[in-house]
Amino acid sequence: MMAQDLYRLIYLSNNEITGDATIIQQEIRQILTISRQRNAEVGITGALMFNKNCFAQVLEGPHDQLQETFERIQCDPRHSNVIILNFESMQTRHFSQWSMAYVSQEAADSVQFARIQRDSGFDPNQLTGERIYDLLHVHLQAAEKNNSNQVY
Ligand code: FAD
Repeated sequence: MMAQDLYRLIYLSNNEITGDATIIQQEIRQILTISRQRNAEVGITGALMFNKNCFAQVLEGPHDQLQETFERIQCDPRHSNVIILNFESMQTRHFSQWSMAYVSQEAADSVQFARIQRDSGFDPNQLTGERIYDLLHVHLQAAEKNNSNQVY
């Protein structure tokens, strides 16, 4: 694969999954299972984070496969108001070892995610892709370092 063919897309959306913790967990597990399977088939990598209000996801991969995957994701009724925060070409993958890494709800509810939501006045348009990206990256690195169960 040519390095210049790589793109990164970061979006934010409203979480539309309702129900108790068990139902939410089941839905997230389903999303992760299908994502990991399909992303691995088409060379997409990335990370997903959610809390009760929002999803944030980073997707990286070849342009056409990324577009195809994102079009499917956008139609999913489990979220709404999908807003692209960043879409640009990149040289190297930053989540190369993850067909879809997952930052747990506990981590997403942590101080940093709450802070960026608060700083933005809870207006998704004010959130920058870079901040979401940094947050996902920091959480994944911390979880790997601590060997904690924050990453599934
Ligand atoms: P099918 O499984 O044939 O389903 C048909 C339709 O029903 C689709 O619109 C699908 O979105 C919807 N659907 C499926 N299951 C449910 C359900 N339990 N409840 C409500 N609607 C449902 N997919 C990827 O391949 N890669 C990703 O990285 C990825 N990330 C995602 C992130 C989020 C936040 C969400 C909500 C979904 C994500 N998905 C991802 C899943 C994606 O939206 C599709 O459901 C999946 O790719 C299967 O697509 P399909 O066309 O084969 O749908």
